[in-house]
Amino acid sequence: METPEKQDRQPGIEAEMNPAPEVIRDSYKGSEKLQDKVALVTGGDSGIGRAVAVHFAREGADIAIVYLDEDIDAEKTKELVEQEGRKCLLIKGDVKKSEFCKESVQKTVEEFGKINILVNNAGMQVPQKDLKNIDEQQLEDTFRTNIFGYFYFAHEVLEHFKAGDCIINTTSVTAYRSSPNLIDYSSTKGAITSFTRSLATNLAKTGIRVNAVAPGPVWTPLIVSTFDEEKIKSFGSETAMERAGQPSEIGPAYVFLACQDASFITGQVIHVNGGEVVNG
Ligand code: NAD
Repeated sequence: METPEKQDRQPGIEAEMNPAPEVIRDSYKGSEKLQDKVALVTGGDSGIGRAVAVHFAREGADIAIVYLDEDIDAEKTKELVEQEGRKCLLIKGDVKKSEFCKESVQKTVEEFGKINILVNNAGMQVPQKDLKNIDEQQLEDTFRTNIFGYFYFAHEVLEHFKAGDCIINTTSVTAYRSSPNLIDYSSTKGAITSFTRSLATNLAKTGIRVNAVAPGPVWTPLIVSTFDEEKIKSFGSETAMERAGQPSEIGPAYVFLACQDASFITGQVIHVNGGEVVNG
């Protein structure tokens, strides 16, 4: 990997990343695992969300992606989904607002006639060395984005879901092994894991499944726009594989959880983290 550089968040940061993240392997063959399903992916403009969108499209799904303000990245994801022969609806707005989340689901249903899969994946982090540096605004923004938004979307999709439909939440290895400089962020990720388990058991009898993916370090815009240069250069070196993962290595876990192959799996977390052994 070339030496990565820190970059500020921009409308098209993934396009500027050096080296570019790998979205999907050329060798990944779709096999209609999600044929004619409709998926809404929050934070689908870049990083893990973009990889999920493109993998789902290669498996036959139409996609709605929700993103904050990264228009260039979002347009690129749309292009990649369309290259797979599927449709992509772009929905720009703030997942911290319940009304926006509700409207996003409604727009998806209006466009495609239904919704089958929700991927709650939008997230933010602001590293801080001391707890006292996490002010109220940061705490509020981090919790509203990373967990309140997940509740809002889940609440709304359940109005439309039927047996066989599913929710997949993005949690993180930080919920399992801690992260000293991401105290608020890792707390939200712990909440996501518990949310996944409780909602899954609450819905189990309905045939609607709820699972999560807990990525380890993955090469995405979130990393280059929030960590300092030193952290970026060594990013991933602490894993057993001594490297960061690519979004192309995370997307297939979401495909598995979204499709019928995972019909007897609910309330679970898949750990895609380069070999870090974590509990739960
Ligand atoms: P990313 O920056 O590519 O994606 C995050 C996306 O979230 C952004 O593109 C943005 O559009 C969206 N977002 C943020 N705040 C929003 C808001 N208020 N409203 C609407 N959208 C908003 O980064 P990523 O690494 O692909 O992150 C995706 C998920 O993966 C996040 O939940 C993150 O916490 C999680 N994760 C990432 C890593 C990693 O190492 N990259 C590791 C573990 C978990």
